[in-house]
Amino acid sequence: MTISRRSLLGAAGASAALAPAVAQTQSQAKAAEPSDKVGFAIVGLGKLSLGQLIPGLKVAKNARLAAVVSGHPDKARRVAAENGLPADAVYGYDDYDRIAKDPRIQVVYVVLPNALHAEHTIKALKAGKHVLCEKPMATSIKDAEAMIAAAKAADRHLMIAYRCHYEPMNLDVMRRLRARSLGRVRQINTTMGRQADPSDPSDAWRLDGELSGNGALGDMGVYGVSAARYLLNEEPIAVQAWAQTDRTDPRFKETEDLINWQFRFPSGVIANGSTSFAYAPTMAFEAICEQGRLVADPAAFYGGNRLTVVKGGQAQPPVPAPPGDQFAREMDWMADVVRGKAPMVSPGEEGLQDMRLMQAILESAAKDGATVRTDWGYRRAVDPAVAVNVA
Ligand code: NAD
Repeated sequence: MTISRRSLLGAAGASAALAPAVAQTQSQAKAAEPSDKVGFAIVGLGKLSLGQLIPGLKVAKNARLAAVVSGHPDKARRVAAENGLPADAVYGYDDYDRIAKDPRIQVVYVVLPNALHAEHTIKALKAGKHVLCEKPMATSIKDAEAMIAAAKAADRHLMIAYRCHYEPMNLDVMRRLRARSLGRVRQINTTMGRQADPSDPSDAWRLDGELSGNGALGDMGVYGVSAARYLLNEEPIAVQAWAQTDRTDPRFKETEDLINWQFRFPSGVIANGSTSFAYAPTMAFEAICEQGRLVADPAAFYGGNRLTVVKGGQAQPPVPAPPGDQFAREMDWMADVVRGKAPMVSPGEEGLQDMRLMQAILESAAKDGATVRTDWGYRRAVDPAVAVNVA
């Protein structure tokens, strides 16, 4: 099943004022010939790369796997062979400056622990490649700014892998809110967390202050920070936050656990956000409007996201998200950006804004909820609700 922009808008009751910025939807676009697909090099062969991204590239319309970069040569050779890549499409971290001379690679997708994003992004940009970088963008504002500067200097695209900007259910909610289908929105609630397992190497670095940056907040909370902003299409002017961390729990020697925050927006909307690495898994949000609620639960899983519209106290049957691979959609979008067929929706500046807001959250939490002003004047360049059309 495909979902067109027309049916999305119809469902949302949106007005013609939301005219598309790009004429062709991804659902209408035909898949490129294999030789015309944009070549991606995946840097880091961990859980996300092996479980989601490489499978996503198999079903992508305009993107294809062109190379792998890993510190584990045996694993890299095995993954390359399984995916039909030639031996010379396998790179190590210390020799991947060579990608500059590899015309098969147009995009480098950085899928490493957060503290390594900046180094590998900048390296790839200097090699003349476009970069898709995983969230959170970096572990410091300084690094995020350096990544943006490197993209400008190299005249290459830098996109942050905010998959929800390209996911049909999230786009549906954005459009319903823009169209005021339940009246004005008054409050947003986001809850993004799970139980971290320190025996899993993939979680061990997430609990490490240096490698993760800020633990649950950067890993899970960032989805809520970003969602409040894209649901409302405005930016917070002030934040207050509180943290609650059990320091006797061996998981939280270096990072905070439970953090709750409150964003105030210029329109008067208040967004409550919560994250934790020690509560039951949840990735949900809710928009409370004048005449009803939009409840997305789950809102940001890899599949099966579900929207419930509650109007006048009455829950309507859930609207399931259409099937399709979120990661393929996101990489196809990047491929279209590179080919000049789609606007950049989640540039480095979007990642930096979330980094700055997360820093404000931590600053407020350190002062037990003191108000931190966040009205530094950032505005997103492109509204996903208007620009993104996906199958
Ligand atoms: P992972 O731990 O499973 O994989 C990380 C890879 O980096 C491993 O292959 C590991 O060998 C390699 N690595 C290189 N240097 C390392 C070092 N110094 N320490 C530890 N590992 C090192 O992690 P993951 O879950 O694949 O996450 C990778 C990135 O993707 C993170 O930035 C994470 O936030 C992001 N992510 C995004 C999503 C999403 O939905 N967009 C989901 C999961 C992860």
